[in-house]
Amino acid sequence: MRSNTREYMMKLNPKRVWVPGPLIVGAGPSGLATAACLKEKGVPSLILEKEDCIASSWKLRTYERLRLHLPKQYCELPHMPFPPGFPTYPTKQQFINYLEAYAQCFSIEPLFGMEVKCAEYDHSIGFWRVQANDLEFICRWLVVATGENSVPVVPDIIGFADFHGRVLHSSSYKKGDDFEGEKVLVVGCGNSGMEVCLDLCNNHAHAYMVVRGKLHILAREIFGISTFGLSMWMMKWFPMNFVYSLLLFFSWMILGGTEKHGLVRPKVGPLQLKMTSGKPLVLGIGTFARIQSSHIKVVPGINKFVENGVEFVNGKHEEFDSIILATGYKSNVPSWLKESEFFSEQDGQPKAPFPNSWRGKNGLYATGFTKRGLLGASIDAQRIAEDVARQWNFKTWHFSLEF
Ligand SMILES: Cc1cc2nc3c(=O)[nH]c(=O)nc-3n(C[C@H](O)[C@H](O)[C@H](O)COP(=O)(O)OP(=O)(O)OC[C@H]3O[C@@H](n4cnc5c(N)ncnc54)[C@H](O)[C@@H]3O)c2cc1C
Repeated sequence: MRSNTREYMMKLNPKRVWVPGPLIVGAGPSGLATAACLKEKGVPSLILEKEDCIASSWKLRTYERLRLHLPKQYCELPHMPFPPGFPTYPTKQQFINYLEAYAQCFSIEPLFGMEVKCAEYDHSIGFWRVQANDLEFICRWLVVATGENSVPVVPDIIGFADFHGRVLHSSSYKKGDDFEGEKVLVVGCGNSGMEVCLDLCNNHAHAYMVVRGKLHILAREIFGISTFGLSMWMMKWFPMNFVYSLLLFFSWMILGGTEKHGLVRPKVGPLQLKMTSGKPLVLGIGTFARIQSSHIKVVPGINKFVENGVEFVNGKHEEFDSIILATGYKSNVPSWLKESEFFSEQDGQPKAPFPNSWRGKNGLYATGFTKRGLLGASIDAQRIAEDVARQWNFKTWHFSLEF
């Protein structure tokens, strides 16, 4: 919304703002993609963003060496390809630049510093009431784009407060040279845990990685083709189980056996695991080679923290200077959205899985909750725009007939 429009509305009613089109909560890639798709359909929208910039997760909560985990063709947002010179795995800064250009291209101007604290459907008037700061926004359509990864998850481990060293979540980790020469325990072995370990190792820290359960690690590329791309392509023709058996076989050929290094593969295939437990595909980016060469040590789960380190579940003690919690994130939706039919109050995710995770009742939509990264967000954004545009055009047409 342009600032003069907002000023005009504020003059009409200083506390209440009427939003004619959809109100989108969150200016990350999902929110931006939805606003752009709506714009392409001629539907205006308004984004409320709690931070003071777009793509705050990428700008404020990521480490320096981060690159897109998936090849660029699976990470483009609708209606605007990446610039031709981008590498297969764009850097964090390249991706941020792309998102800035995207917002500019579609003239998306979110209202920054607007944290939505409460949103509730008012049955008596048939509209959503959305509270942010000291304003109440009234809208017909509400799009939740606050991300699957909005709140860092910190595990509840005994003795946490007793540890005297440095403890931080991977969302606050910036670069490995801050830890040079230190003995660092990384709790978690997803993509972030793997990448943080590699970065620590490259910067002369002694990295230890906690692996509690079983996990699949796949080669990032097979015969020069991205594993993710290959799996998407093969799944058009073959059943999922067959595809993943084949990928596991190729990964075994490329990486070798992982079990003797403490990474035991589960019986269930990687994609089924992702669908049932939400665990992401862990793609080898060089970390496994450092595990094989014993530069990164795999250790079991933690029993408790002690003053100078930890006690593992096998009873052994180890001293550490720092601990990095690469323990993931969760949705913040239950903290602000007063709705429990479409979104689960337990995990803040839509109850119905993809491809039915984008539309609820009474004009409620969700984008970016598909467990399929940016590709899933782009699909959601296009579906939402089509659905809202149908209603919008009907409303406009109906309205013009009445006058
Ligand atoms: C380290 C990392 C690497 C990843 N790499 C890839 C990759 O290579 N490819 C891929 O497809 N996916 C990747 N993902 C997954 C996913 O695509 C990204 O997390 C992406 O940023 C999700 O976009 P989003 O807009 O849904 O959520 P976010 O980027 O988290 O944006 C949500 C926005 O909502 C705002 N917000 C939250 N709550 C409120 C509120 N109450 N009021 C107002 N604003 C609010 C936040 O400040 C934020 O700006 C990665 C994720 C991580 C963590």
